[in-house]
Parts: sequence; structure tokens; C-alpha cells
Amino acid sequence: MTVLTDLVSAVSGGSVEIVDLTAPLQASTPILNLPEPFANTQPFALHEISNYDAAGPGWYWNNISTGEHVGTHVDAPNHWITGRESADVSAAPVKQLIGPAAVLDASDRVADNPDFLLEVSDIHAWEAQHGPLPEGGWLLFRTGWDARSHDSAAFLNVDENGSHTPGVSVECAKYLAEETTLFGFGVETVGTDAGGAGAFDPMFPCHHYFLGSGKFGLTQLQNLAQLPPTGAVIVVCPLPIVGGSGSPARVLAMVSR
Ligand code: MN
Repeated sequence: MTVLTDLVSAVSGGSVEIVDLTAPLQASTPILNLPEPFANTQPFALHEISNYDAAGPGWYWNNISTGEHVGTHVDAPNHWITGRESADVSAAPVKQLIGPAAVLDASDRVADNPDFLLEVSDIHAWEAQHGPLPEGGWLLFRTGWDARSHDSAAFLNVDENGSHTPGVSVECAKYLAEETTLFGFGVETVGTDAGGAGAFDPMFPCHHYFLGSGKFGLTQLQNLAQLPPTGAVIVVCPLPIVGGSGSPARVLAMVSR
């Protein structure tokens, strides 16, 4: 037996479960809405080529149009000005697209405060309980926000003061980017930063520090509640868009049961 045949046996036997962390990709998938004067992304759309009809009597197929940053997607370092000289999404190192995932659950506090910000003290408290963050791995921030992903208004949670969604404080974003060996940071919300992070200094600190450190972001995950705090392995598969700043991605987790 080898590691891989053992893995296949474990998956078929159920002792390793595959959990899909990916939101369905469709026209109703929520997208980021930047205020004026900034340009916005297109949503996902299907454009039919043929459907067993005169345009193609024996086959059904579509063109698709989408922004790079739509649905469950990867942010590459070159998405942000601080990482503009760093990797595009096609250059994501495949060895780190499969890696250990730590899950930090703040869903109870987010339920009371949608503007909740993760702090360095939360990272230290998590490490005191579960051990160090995984070397070169991923930190996944569970907020319970995936329960809103079917409803764009609830997901973006905008009022007259802007968007109210959880994220990371400036200090914590800098700490995770510069003081840990994490490769990536994943969230359940539309972006890795808080809804109010446009007003932070620097603005959008998770993007600023994480992508500026050559690391990767991962957004709109779901089903993180099915993952343990430690021990899961995630498989992150963005499209290798040459020159791209990100890509919709299929994200799976392997979990021992
Ligand atoms: Mn993005």
C-alpha cells in the first residue's frame, strides 16, 4: 500500500470525507459592489451556443462570462498594488494549493456583530487551544456568513453607512501576513476584508498585507462548519488564467471521520 492507495481506500470507505467548500456558480451568485467612482465586476452568466437544436442538433454547450472575482474564488498577489510585481493566478504554486487548513470559528460573535474584526489576540487564543498555525498552510475564518450566500442583499449586508460584513483588523492582517508562514487566508464573505475596510488605514488591510507578502486569498467558502479546527486538508483549484488577478475556484476539503 502507498499513501495514495490508502487515501483512495479511505475516501471510498468513508474514513476520509470530501467536503465541498465551493458556492454554486450561477447568475445569482453574489458579487462585490464597489461605490462610485470605481468600476465593478460582471456577474457570472451562461450564453447558450446550442441546445440540441439547429445550432447544434446533437449537443448542448454554452459560453460563459464572469469576472475573475466572482463566487468562490482565489485572489492572486498581483490583485493588489502592494503585490503587483508578484504572482498572477496562473503562477500559483500547485504544491501549496493542497495544504493543511486551520479553521478559526468566530460565528457566535459575528452573530452579535456583523462588523466583527478578527484580532491578533484571537489568533493567539486559537493557537493556545489548538497549537501553531499550519506551516505554509491555510487559515479559514468561519463566520457563519455562508448561511446568507443564497441571498445577495443579506450576503452584502449594505445599509446607508455601507457594507457590514466581518473581516480582519489592520494589526491582525499585518500579523498574519508578516509574522506567520501561512500561504493563504480563506473567508465565507464576498472578499477577504471586512465590509467597512475601505475606511481602514491602510484600506483593505488583508489585501494590502496578505497579497503584498506574495500570499493568496480565498473567498465565499461554505460548509466550514463541517471542518475540524485542525487536521483538514484543502484542495484549491483556480483556473490558470495567464496574467489573471484571480479566478473562480473549486475548493474541496479532506476530513478524517
Ligand atoms: Mn477577490
